[in-house]
Amino acid sequence: MSRSVSTEVMPDKDGMFGPYGGQVVPPELKAIMDEITLAYEEISQKESFQNELSDLLKHYVGRPSPIYHCKRLTEHCNGATIYFKREDLNHTGAHKINHCLGEVLVAKSMGKTKVLAETGAGQHGVALATACALLGVPCEIHMGTVDIEKEHPNVMRMKVLGATIVPVTRGTATLKDAVDSAFEEYMKDPKNFFYAIGSVVGPHPFPMMVRDFQKIVGEEAKTQFNEMVGKNPDVLVACVGGGSNAIGLFTAFLEDENVRIIGVEPSGLGLETPDHAATLTKGQPGVIHGFKCYLIQDEKGDPKPVYSVASGLDYPGVGPQHSYLKDIGRVEYETVSDQECLDTFVSLSRLEGIIPALESAHAVAYAMKIAPELPGQNILINLSGRGDKDLDFVVKKMNL
Ligand SMILES: *Cc1c(COP(=O)(O)O)cnc(C)c1O
Repeated sequence: MSRSVSTEVMPDKDGMFGPYGGQVVPPELKAIMDEITLAYEEISQKESFQNELSDLLKHYVGRPSPIYHCKRLTEHCNGATIYFKREDLNHTGAHKINHCLGEVLVAKSMGKTKVLAETGAGQHGVALATACALLGVPCEIHMGTVDIEKEHPNVMRMKVLGATIVPVTRGTATLKDAVDSAFEEYMKDPKNFFYAIGSVVGPHPFPMMVRDFQKIVGEEAKTQFNEMVGKNPDVLVACVGGGSNAIGLFTAFLEDENVRIIGVEPSGLGLETPDHAATLTKGQPGVIHGFKCYLIQDEKGDPKPVYSVASGLDYPGVGPQHSYLKDIGRVEYETVSDQECLDTFVSLSRLEGIIPALESAHAVAYAMKIAPELPGQNILINLSGRGDKDLDFVVKKMNL
């Protein structure tokens, strides 16, 4: 396992993380992406931008989010000591507000007239609609009708926040189809529109930019954990859809060789069925939405429909940096099934009084699986979001 690779300088100037990432887009779009890269590099150096962003993260989002020692969950697992980084306590209830504020600030500084995006669980849509309302920028959200059905409360939030919602019925009517739809709209006027990508995916500079906006999670966690426990955590665990909350936690620890890092993907109804979204576990290198990464694909190399009980995790691609971290062996990628996720949703709620997002429950479920074998170790889980949005669904599904 080679762990000495410097991850700080990634990606290279072409947006490559090893063989992954880049800009697999038509020339006219590449020109626009290069413009965004330049604008981002310029603005992110400015003290005024950094001050405005940190001010909003502190006073609007409520950062730093706490580190919480889960006593009852730890007792229940009878092994490792378990801690949460509480991204569920952010304004809007998840980690996504961190990169949405950053992206909308960049869009606004570039004079863009409309910010648009897709959403899966509705969390990116709500976070983006929130950032757009706050900063006074028009917002348009594309969402699969299956997800609209499942995530009704988030749909209402986006409407109240003033966003325009575009329902998407094509394909499986979930996240990937919403991306396709939003992208088509974007291509009508990419000079004036800004496509705010919801994770560390898409063409360069988005995987880099979204990671940079999320890495505050791990930076805070490192300081907080060392203050609280006196050393780094032994193990980090985070769920991986596109990979933004995971890379947000991981980045500050990548160079710390003694920290074991685990990303958790959804195995849905089973890895042997087509109904999972375990991209890094079952996928092969390919191209989706303008970048190279591990991909769940058909014989022709086209993305295949994927599935998870957690809408925010059902994407057939994954961030290029995660693809690279898998290949060099720095991060382990494991899976958790729908059933394990649902069981954890209920047991965590009852053990700690914390209702997790179905996405985050994947990370908790995996940590609970390994905790009994790791007595004396400390596990830090990124609790990426809260589960209010999933309540109706879980109560029905679990007959509560
Ligand atoms: C969207 C979402 C995820 C998955 O997205 P990543 O980019 O992989 O982090 C995970 N947890 C929550 C709560 C989400 O809303």
